[in-house]
Amino acid sequence: MTKYLHYIDGKYVEPSSGKWFDSFNPFTGEVWAQIAQGNAEDVERAVQAAHRELTKGPWSQLTPSQRGVLMHKLGDLIARDAKKLAEIEVRDNGKLIAEMQAQLNYVPNWYYYFGGLADKIQGAVIPLDKKGYFNFTRNEPVGVVGAITPWNSPLMLAAWKVAPALAAGCTVVLKPSEFTSASALEFVKLFEEAGFPPGVVNVVTGFGKEVGMPLVEHPLVRKISFTGSEVTGRLVNETAARQFKRVGLELGGKSPNIVFADAKIEDAVNGAVSGIFAATGQTCIAGSRLLLQESIHDEFVERLVALAKTARMGNPMSMDTQVGPVTTQPQYQKILGYIDIAKNEGAKLLMGGGKATRPECGSGWFVEPTVFAGVNNKMRIAQEEVFGPVLSIIKFKDEDEAVQIANDVRFGLGSGVWTNDIGRAIRMSEKIQAGTVWVNTYRAVSYMSPFGGYKESGMGRENGQDAIREYLQTKSVWINSGAATGNPFVMR
Ligand code: NAD
Repeated sequence: MTKYLHYIDGKYVEPSSGKWFDSFNPFTGEVWAQIAQGNAEDVERAVQAAHRELTKGPWSQLTPSQRGVLMHKLGDLIARDAKKLAEIEVRDNGKLIAEMQAQLNYVPNWYYYFGGLADKIQGAVIPLDKKGYFNFTRNEPVGVVGAITPWNSPLMLAAWKVAPALAAGCTVVLKPSEFTSASALEFVKLFEEAGFPPGVVNVVTGFGKEVGMPLVEHPLVRKISFTGSEVTGRLVNETAARQFKRVGLELGGKSPNIVFADAKIEDAVNGAVSGIFAATGQTCIAGSRLLLQESIHDEFVERLVALAKTARMGNPMSMDTQVGPVTTQPQYQKILGYIDIAKNEGAKLLMGGGKATRPECGSGWFVEPTVFAGVNNKMRIAQEEVFGPVLSIIKFKDEDEAVQIANDVRFGLGSGVWTNDIGRAIRMSEKIQAGTVWVNTYRAVSYMSPFGGYKESGMGRENGQDAIREYLQTKSVWINSGAATGNPFVMR
């Protein structure tokens, strides 16, 4: 059985606890690897290495262009190993090889794009209102970054943090999810091959309380970039606040996918199915509330259910599979629990509604794609994130009611609007409280376009030029170019 060690200061090292934990394959339910169980001592070593590189090691001496070149090399190496890395992720999280392969093929772009930005981080000369002074700004790295990631898209979500952090000149300690640690430990060795100095990116694996929290609490870590659940996000934020640390949070969602009667129905049906059943619904941007205009409701639901019923479930390693297992056993139980809650709340079950017992699902953690109609937006199934293949359908009369229902939720991550009326598309995109509005599409993301949440879906932005600012701090430099000293007791 493969044993995965921490990666600290350019070397694979044993956990100081001497303990290991199991990584399960969600398709078979079997253990396939053992992962180092980290603790505060391991975090300390990793943070010290990252801090040395930030302040006086070879990394701190590189020019921004040199950092960009290394990041480009890293991108090429990820592209070379994309297939291998994708297969490890499928073994760990059970998501479809078709999806993980596409993701891993796309991940190098984060390193190319942010590598390209590394030497375009410019300060400004400030046109002061005071004579005899020259004032300019510098954008400096915020410090050692603690990056904490979830299990659904391990290396892609790591790239959203690591790439802008490195471009800004920061160094990183990455703590992947305990459910999907292996790919990060394969990936991290590419840093050495690309020519990065040891200690720039470190990986410490383990559980949230034993590794995540010490990382958040470490005084030398000046920025936490966290993706995960709102419950953990709140704890991370409160803890980091005690040291006035920068925090970026990418949390959950209950995203509305809104279809107007004037939409191209076939496209919208595809978008609704992809919004909730792709990745077995295990995405933060899942379009888990489908808002349908009354006049098309019945026809739309019929077509949606007919399409969803064709989904091929089974082995995620097969390119033909369309819906794979749920990644973790607790998540599997949680989804089944929400299906019961929806039934008890009086939502009308149209398909699915429990464990998948099809022979091709074997002993994996599979949930049938599930559709509930007649959902009222006040129900828990409409308000709480399920993070699984469970769709809630809600009717609306007109644009105003669609906006009201869409926004009547604590979250604000994604949203979809399906309409052929350009004016309505613009009005809706203005009124929806969410970090992303997709019009006549769903689930598109790019390294170039800012991503993040409104309300309790998080704070800060990843991707695009906004992301690099999250890893920089501004310094204002004043130079006396001829001002008189004047009265030392009075501010100038
Ligand atoms: P989680 O909050 O359970 O875990 C996320 C990470 O936090 C893991 O690495 C975990 O070990 C760590 N952690 C747990 N307790 C901690 C603690 N006390 N201190 C520090 N770290 C701790 O979330 P999850 O179940 O892995 O992921 C699913 C959640 O992630 C969903 O809510 C989903 O919506 C969200 N998500 C958000 C985005 C986004 O970009 N907004 C993307 C993917 C997933």
